[in-house]
Amino acid sequence: MNNILFIAPPAAGKGTFSELIKEKYGYVHISTGDLLREEVKSGTDLGKEISDIMSSGKLVSDDLIKRMLEKKLKTLDKNTPFIMDGYPRTLKQVKDYEEILEKLGLNIGKAIYLKIDKETGLKRVLGRLTCPKCKRGYNKLTGYNMPKVEWICDDCKIELESRVDDTEEAYNIRYDTYMKETKPIIEYFKSKNNLIEIDSTLDADSTMKEIEKWLV
Ligand SMILES: [Zn+2]
Repeated sequence: MNNILFIAPPAAGKGTFSELIKEKYGYVHISTGDLLREEVKSGTDLGKEISDIMSSGKLVSDDLIKRMLEKKLKTLDKNTPFIMDGYPRTLKQVKDYEEILEKLGLNIGKAIYLKIDKETGLKRVLGRLTCPKCKRGYNKLTGYNMPKVEWICDDCKIELESRVDDTEEAYNIRYDTYMKETKPIIEYFKSKNNLIEIDSTLDADSTMKEIEKWLV
């Protein structure tokens, strides 16, 4: 199985697909955000260093993230594929990442870009409905996962709740910032012929089928 790294604007479904790939194919999910929290919690020397930096309000340096990631990747069985989530975000981090992988004899695998336009992403965020009882998710704006009866769970027949995490303005800012930040690495992977562009505006099943083609 190929290792993968996701490039995914907000609401592109990265969380959903990471979960599916983990469950179905036994991938390990590596998120640098989670790793930082784990290191701090476990109170290792590295964790103490991170905790000091964070409590002083500074950003954790690329070098520290690199050390932390190397430590984590070293513990993995070489035959276990992994999903890299939230990293690398800059060209500097791409170089760091390539160095770690080379050192450990690991392969970068496929860079999978889950493409979603801002309008569709916004509909996903603003149209989200959830059943309070069975937790099933619906959407009233995207045209996918519409409840059969407006605002009513198909299974439980009770009223759905709207859980809007973002305002339109906040989403637009998050989206634009992400696209601006990641443009150089999208170009980089493209130039290396290693950018898999997947239409992530479709229903989850169709997108998952496209992703699956690149795992093996
Ligand atoms: Zn329900």
